[in-house]
Amino acid sequence: MNIGFIGLGNMGAPMAHNLLKAGHALRVFDLSTGAVAALMDAGAKGADSAGGVLQDAEIVITMLPASAHVKAVYLGDDGLLANVKPGVLLIDSSTIDPLSAREVAKAAVAHGNPMLDAPVSGGTGGAAAGTLTFMVGGAEADFAKAQPILAAMGRNIVHCGGSGNGQVAKVANNMLLGISMIGVAEAMALGVSLGIDAKVLANIINTSSGRCWSSDTNNPYPGVLDNVPASRGYSGGFGTDLMLKDLGLATDAARQIKQPVILGALAQQLYQRFSCDGHGGLDFSAIITSYLGPQDKS
Ligand code: NAD
Repeated sequence: MNIGFIGLGNMGAPMAHNLLKAGHALRVFDLSTGAVAALMDAGAKGADSAGGVLQDAEIVITMLPASAHVKAVYLGDDGLLANVKPGVLLIDSSTIDPLSAREVAKAAVAHGNPMLDAPVSGGTGGAAAGTLTFMVGGAEADFAKAQPILAAMGRNIVHCGGSGNGQVAKVANNMLLGISMIGVAEAMALGVSLGIDAKVLANIINTSSGRCWSSDTNNPYPGVLDNVPASRGYSGGFGTDLMLKDLGLATDAARQIKQPVILGALAQQLYQRFSCDGHGGLDFSAIITSYLGPQDKS
């Protein structure tokens, strides 16, 4: 299939590589000419504007940083909707707020272009391995058309309902993840301060009712699990600033519909404080270090 792809960053570049590997013909654009050149080396055709990827395209996929970039690329004066032929399927895999996703999709549909929001989880490792989870919002028939394309980049492709619901699933899950990590951090720090061994406590939590992903897969206490950010100085993993971005999307969407998210907003402020202190690049599990004494932070 002829696919246009815009946004070749940490996630988009490996996703585009996987589409090429699956035999699709790609025409790609990014503001970084180096990123375009790297994909051209792998067999893609390059474009020098967002509209330039549209030539022959049956599907266009975008993987951009945030809502403002998505709106500019789709709705801008020389953006996709100003140039795309009706009928071309548009898929935005960026993580943006659900209401902006619905606004862009509504404009696309009014122009005659079906559109899906399809944010991902799985990080850069999942993007490289082609094992991402796609949470997809939009019409059932458009989902069915997109499914085999998304399957070249991901393992779990889930239709979450109508337009914007992929983003809804993503922000709700990540808000819970941000909150649960702080809960695990607080419980681990309390237990160890009261004298229990961190591994013993983690084993109890992980076979009891406190168990969650933040305790059994990405435990924040140093030395409890091997091969997690906590055991390598909180490098790699899911950056605090990315968690902060997703909590901002959740609280902003909540504000717009006047839905209280009290713990989500508190978690956002705790990660914001942590980022202000210069730790935005560390895995978000590093939030536990705000609870630990210097002797515990190894
Ligand atoms: P990134 O910053 O590495 O890449 C974004 C790319 O978009 C850059 O190459 C940039 O040059 C390009 N770009 C920006 N504006 C553009 C424009 N107007 N036209 C063309 N290209 C433009 O970001 P990323 O890590 O690849 O993340 C992309 C999206 O995926 C974000 O919404 C992010 O929240 C989400 N996400 C990231 C991860 C992760 O682990 N990095 C995981 C899940 C979801």
